[in-house]
Amino acid sequence: MVFQDESAAIPKEKVPFAEQVERYRVPPGARVTLADYPPDPSEPLKRGRAQKLLKRLRKQLNSLQELLYATGDHAVLVVLQGMDTSGKDGVIKRVVSAFNPQGFEVSGFKVPTPEELAHDFLWRVHARVPRRGMVGVFNRSHYEDVLVVRVDGLVPEPVWRQRYAAIREFEALLAANGVVIVKFFLNISKEEQAARLRDRLEDPTEHWKFRSGDLSARAKWDAYMAAYEAALEECSPPEAPWYVVPANNKAYRDAVIAQVLVNRLEALQMEWPPLPADSSGIVIE
Ligand code: ADP
Repeated sequence: MVFQDESAAIPKEKVPFAEQVERYRVPPGARVTLADYPPDPSEPLKRGRAQKLLKRLRKQLNSLQELLYATGDHAVLVVLQGMDTSGKDGVIKRVVSAFNPQGFEVSGFKVPTPEELAHDFLWRVHARVPRRGMVGVFNRSHYEDVLVVRVDGLVPEPVWRQRYAAIREFEALLAANGVVIVKFFLNISKEEQAARLRDRLEDPTEHWKFRSGDLSARAKWDAYMAAYEAALEECSPPEAPWYVVPANNKAYRDAVIAQVLVNRLEALQMEWPPLPADSSGIVIE
């Protein structure tokens, strides 16, 4: 189903939205067929509800991030992956921006530099992992090393095949050190991508976003989907789950991501730290 009005997209169900979004989580060890994960929301909703919901979730995210900083016990790592035009930048603009700018850092990962290539594939990524108290957002990530690298055959198959295990171990190490990892695959349909690429060609304010290279990845759509299925299947343990987010509808996509982040942060059951022991009985004159 394609929605004309993207503000009309939150399903009208009795199940609370906080629970609904968990249906997009990839269970550990499950076989993944992307055809089972729709790129459109399951039901249309009343106009304006998505924006209202996002407004509320943004407020929650803002105070949860402050609590994260105040307690300093955990870091949060948000991984954004998806085909070109799937909305990675849009999510940063509309969801991640809810955080205090002092509390988060966005890292983009492009074609590796010669220096990066001279190290193991996780080297550049590890350096960008957030410290405790902070949120780190990866716009593309170490998963490119089993996506574009696999599809384009940039390293021999035995090399990319062993990377799934390396990624699992890397993420387990981070999780054991207090990093909460949440990974989002922004799931758009091939038709929706065509429409968005056409917009880039037609709208002068979007021309700068158009890269002819995007078309070569589009031409390998099926190979990319197979590579995504393998990554989702191999690397979605409970401590670092993937969510396959319906991303054809921007308002719904944003609300789902914001809600998942709220869920993950609330699950930490963080408490405001008390006054330091030596401050009791102090009177400010
Ligand atoms: P954006 O992330 O905004 O699309 P670019 O248009 O510069 O930025 O795209 C970044 C490009 O870098 C993508 O084509 C992506 O596949 C590529 N890339 C990222 N990581 C790797 C990697 N490890 N090996 C090869 N290419 C990579």
